[in-house]
Amino acid sequence: MSALLKVEKLEVTYHRVITAVQGVSLEVAEGSIVCLIGNNGAGKTTTLRAISGFLGLDDARVTDGHVEWRGERIENQPPHRIARRGIALVPERSKVFESLSVEENLDAAVSGRGGIDKARVFEHFPILNRLRARQAGYLSGGERQMLAIGSALMCSPQLLLIDELSLGLAPKVVDELVERLRAIRAELGTTLLVVEQNAQVALDLADHGYVMENGRVVLDGAPDRLREHQDIREFYLGAGQSSRRSYRDVKQYRRSRRWYG
Ligand code: ATP
Repeated sequence: MSALLKVEKLEVTYHRVITAVQGVSLEVAEGSIVCLIGNNGAGKTTTLRAISGFLGLDDARVTDGHVEWRGERIENQPPHRIARRGIALVPERSKVFESLSVEENLDAAVSGRGGIDKARVFEHFPILNRLRARQAGYLSGGERQMLAIGSALMCSPQLLLIDELSLGLAPKVVDELVERLRAIRAELGTTLLVVEQNAQVALDLADHGYVMENGRVVLDGAPDRLREHQDIREFYLGAGQSSRRSYRDVKQYRRSRRWYG
């Protein structure tokens, strides 16, 4: 499988002084599901913003490295140009128009070049069909996430970026979302890059995972390999009694044990 998206040594700076992401490299193969795992402030959202072009609104820029889409450089392009190439972002917040109905949200999402039929979105999310007249502001968190994903699908993206898939949602809802995303990949051929704080969910969904900390990628691999990795088990999957706060802390702890023990 060829790389649809390639991020090379990416550096992103907010307000010309705050470097949020440094030297981040990752690849997303066509047709794959890739997850970015990491705690608050690790740089996951910033990475998605750099790929989708939504950096300018936060007075940020790609200051080094690059983002390649099908072999073409796209970093620092405006979001509408990146969207036209087939990249859609489901943001962490403000993901739906709250004063519009479910159906109006879907209609509003269609770009000039058109996309898939609303009926296809309803096939993937039957609950949206049942709630089509409901004002989006009254939807539950899970329904809102489904509407946001459905709205993004209306433009037939080749790559769907989802920021915080499971945040604040009940496990049952998350399981359903994971199943829906797998079906969307299988039936529509959509490639997915998903930011997820819950490593369990991420490793269940993805073909490949990247672990980010303090603006850098500290580890990557296939889910089975990451699940077996002792540091990931200890810190991200909650195995053991670790009170250490990060992958880096775990590493330092190990080194000190080797040293003194
Ligand atoms: P979270 O899960 O909390 O969203 P994250 O991994 O997505 O975390 P980012 O939101 O990308 O992390 O933040 C990375 C770093 O960039 C943090 O140190 C954060 O404070 C900083 N940052 C994010 N947005 C801005 C902004 N608009 N202005 C200045 N600094 C920012």
